[in-house]
Amino acid sequence: MKPCPKCWGGTLSVRSGPHGPFEGCNSCAHKRNLPPDHKIETGNRASLRTPLTPGTRCPTCGKGTMVERQARFRPFVGCDRHPQCQTTAPLAPI
Ligand SMILES: [Zn+2]
Ligand SMILES: [Zn+2]
Repeated sequence: MKPCPKCWGGTLSVRSGPHGPFEGCNSCAHKRNLPPDHKIETGNRASLRTPLTPGTRCPTCGKGTMVERQARFRPFVGCDRHPQCQTTAPLAPI
C-alpha cells in the first residue's frame, strides 16, 4: 500500500482507465498517469481456461512456473509467484 502524497490519508491503487493505467487515491482526487506498459497488480489475477500441466511457464507474468494446487473440488495449477501473480488454470489431464 502506497500512501497518497497529496492528502496523506488515502492510499494509492493502480487502476486502468480509458487512457491507460493510472495510480489514484481512494480518498482525494489525486491521480498520476502511469506508463502504458505498467503492470497492473490486480490484472495478474487471471483465470485461464486452457488446461496447463505443472511446470509450464506462467503465461501471465512470464517468470513464474505453474505448480499444482489442491482445491476442494478440482485440482488446478497456479503460478508459483503467488501472491504477486495470481494466475490459475485448470490442471491438464495427464
Ligand atoms: Zn489523496
Ligand atoms: Zn505468473
